[in-house]
Amino acid sequence: MSARSRRFPLPLARVGAHGVEAARRDLARARPTASADALPRGLGLDSQAVRDRMVARLRADGIRCEPVLAAMARVPRHAFVDAALVAQAYEDTALPIGHGQTISQPWVVARMIELLLERRHIAGGPGRVLEIGTGCGYQAALLACLGTSVISIERLRPLFDRAQAHLAPLRLSNLRLVYGDGRLGHAPNAPYDSIISAAGGEDVPEAWLQQLAVGGRLVAPIRHGAADTQVLVTMDRDASGWTRHHHEAVRFVPLRSGTA
Ligand code: SAH
Repeated sequence: MSARSRRFPLPLARVGAHGVEAARRDLARARPTASADALPRGLGLDSQAVRDRMVARLRADGIRCEPVLAAMARVPRHAFVDAALVAQAYEDTALPIGHGQTISQPWVVARMIELLLERRHIAGGPGRVLEIGTGCGYQAALLACLGTSVISIERLRPLFDRAQAHLAPLRLSNLRLVYGDGRLGHAPNAPYDSIISAAGGEDVPEAWLQQLAVGGRLVAPIRHGAADTQVLVTMDRDASGWTRHHHEAVRFVPLRSGTA
């Protein structure tokens, strides 16, 4: 990830206006489901202190959206990675999750959800969410702490199964995992206020545009220029159509067709 720089300051006033009170409300909402008692123990890691340090770093690196920071202080990233990688779980780096895939770098996860909330915040969150690329399930858990409802799709069966196992102890009743090709979106629950992709394609699939609610925002890594260059793209839908904006350069695993 080359460009986690502050070269692209964005107007976060609408998010900032939310402030700490909204973050508190979000946490209060998250608590009954994502209970600390349900989290794994015995990892030899004071995970709350380590998470708080990760959040302080994210803040120093320009993440300003309090609800996102609050959710990241809460969701145990170490519970989503292999035991051998637990010690690195709170470093600002992507980590392998098997099958050639990675859990995204915390800064990028925070930035993408921040971009969603900048446009749309329903009770401080991203509303009805569609996530493409469940992977290990970490970002899905964050979205479920913030959103009204979350559908998350994964095309690789072993990762889908593992994400279910990771997420079960958190008892996030507003999150549903779907095994399938996320390029098609998930029509039964459309429209979505927020659509977020953790895999990068050549362009935004038509199904995502159609399944985005009027007033909603989509954020996805999309190839830009050279074959291995991607940028974060947002698409905002209003009554007259879709508006596209380009943001930071990023590096995500490819968006692939079909299931495996
Ligand atoms: N948000 C994830 C990141 C996973 S990496 C996390 O927190 O771990 C991106 C994931 O997208 C991979 O698991 C990959 O298998 C998946 N993916 C790629 N193309 C897809 C598609 N068409 N439909 C659903 N998932 C897809």
